Amino acid sequence: MKPQHKPETDILIIGSGISGLMCALKAAETYHVTILTKKKLATTATAMAQGGIAAAQENSDDGMREHEEDTLIAGEHHNQKQAVQHVIRHAPNMIKILREYGVEFDSELTLEGGHRKKRIHHTKDTTGKTIEDALIKAVKKQKNITIIEDAMTLELLGDTKACRGCQYLKDATIYTIQSAYTVLATGGAGQVYAHTTNPKVATGDGIAMAHRLGATISDMEFIQFHPTALLDRYNPHFLLSESLRGEGAMLRNAKGEAFMKQYDPRGDLAPRDKVSQAIFIEQKKGKVFLDISHKPAAWIRERFPAIYPAVLKRTKQDMTKEPVAITPVAHYLCGGVEVNTRGETSVPHLYAIGETARTGLHGANRLASNSLLEGAVYGIKAAEDILQKLSTKEKLPSGSAKKTSFSIASQPFAMKHVRQQIQDTMWTLAGIHRTQADLSKALFQLQRIRDILPPIHMVNEEIMEARNLLEVSLLIVKAAQKRKKSLGCHWIK
Ligand SMILES: Cc1cc2nc3c(=O)[nH]c(=O)nc-3n(C[C@H](O)[C@H](O)[C@H](O)COP(=O)(O)OP(=O)(O)OC[C@H]3O[C@@H](n4cnc5c(N)ncnc54)[C@H](O)[C@@H]3O)c2cc1C
Repeated sequence: MKPQHKPETDILIIGSGISGLMCALKAAETYHVTILTKKKLATTATAMAQGGIAAAQENSDDGMREHEEDTLIAGEHHNQKQAVQHVIRHAPNMIKILREYGVEFDSELTLEGGHRKKRIHHTKDTTGKTIEDALIKAVKKQKNITIIEDAMTLELLGDTKACRGCQYLKDATIYTIQSAYTVLATGGAGQVYAHTTNPKVATGDGIAMAHRLGATISDMEFIQFHPTALLDRYNPHFLLSESLRGEGAMLRNAKGEAFMKQYDPRGDLAPRDKVSQAIFIEQKKGKVFLDISHKPAAWIRERFPAIYPAVLKRTKQDMTKEPVAITPVAHYLCGGVEVNTRGETSVPHLYAIGETARTGLHGANRLASNSLLEGAVYGIKAAEDILQKLSTKEKLPSGSAKKTSFSIASQPFAMKHVRQQIQDTMWTLAGIHRTQADLSKALFQLQRIRDILPPIHMVNEEIMEARNLLEVSLLIVKAAQKRKKSLGCHWIK
């Protein structure tokens, strides 16, 4: 049976990745939850995650302290210590909860860049899919959760005094849903760039909507470029998980030389910003490769059962026999909607969790496998906070829920072209390596693109995504212009 639109809900969650689903499951223990998601439930970055989820061993205080230190080192100490401790102290419990939902992690932990110890929980190379599948199974069983798929949230209702729900588009109809609490779990914004690992849905909608509502947004200049995406022509690029290097793969330049030690004493397992920047320099001389062919072929196929055939199919390169050509691409947004440790934004009744949020955990560069963890922790903490508030009878915020009068675009607009123009501008002028001159050019070009967008009230999914991509791009460029010195993944001359 198709879920019915209801004009009101206690808790509205926008997005169905790890953060949204963990939040929904916790909140639905007591209250009614509605999940809106742009495509199908499983169309998320979460389902694409390969490497794993970091958690120091339970009851090992030293292990936690080391995990905290590694997070701070990778983030160049731009992190908020309180957020770092908050997430890492809760990590073992997140693994326990995920296990209770049916996620079966492999018995062996693995290693990734920036971690001094093996502490990554994984299920071979499909950790995200395993997690997403288990959580979807759980939310589908929960009677208190209404799931509305293929529903694109267009705008939040309210103002800086309170968020009161949202307007969304489904089957060419615009609906309004009012909620006591609204949670943005819309993921990242990798699609801002021409080259990214992020799914097509990652257009920064939550950040753009929160920004239009007046919420505080920060750290937008810190875009993490993953060092090892497959050098192919697809959008998104296929990722070659860092766990390959954790298991012994090496980066080689066009001459076949292992070069990372020249750039960073930590070598191939340096944090991602350092590795991507080194590859960027090496790529000026020729292609760069990831090589795991020195390991036994049967072991590679067994340990990386998804990556091995995908690389073979997409590029005809056989990882067991030869190095594979790679390139850095946009991967993760460290900034976003600013929140406290409970996931509250600067706007009352509005929460942000997962990649949409800027929690302060990642600082200037995210430590590998800390993102699924952050999504899980903040999903649960936001739900707990909302439950506590609802129990004290803070229901629907008072005041009117001012709506935007949208009309659905009837004439075709060339949005594919606009999207491409934004992505190309961002890739060439505000990408891995930035200069003030390029950023000024980017700003100019983005402002020109804004002039060719359809009028503000005119919507369909493509128009709204292009508008959000543009808005997020402007936030990135303006933040990058303000930070004059390189820090973490913001590399500027
Ligand atoms: C290829 C890849 C590999 C990765 N590997 C790892 C890893 O090994 N370990 C790790 O920790 N992290 C990894 N990451 C990062 C991590 O997967 C993400 O940061 C994390 O999954 C984000 O979870 P989330 O809940 O914030 O959002 P997502 O999982 O991205 O989900 C966002 C949801 O919001 C919905 N949405 C977006 N806009 C709207 C809208 N307007 N209306 C309605 N719904 C909307 C989307 O459809 C989607 O359902 C990886 C990322 C990628 C892309």
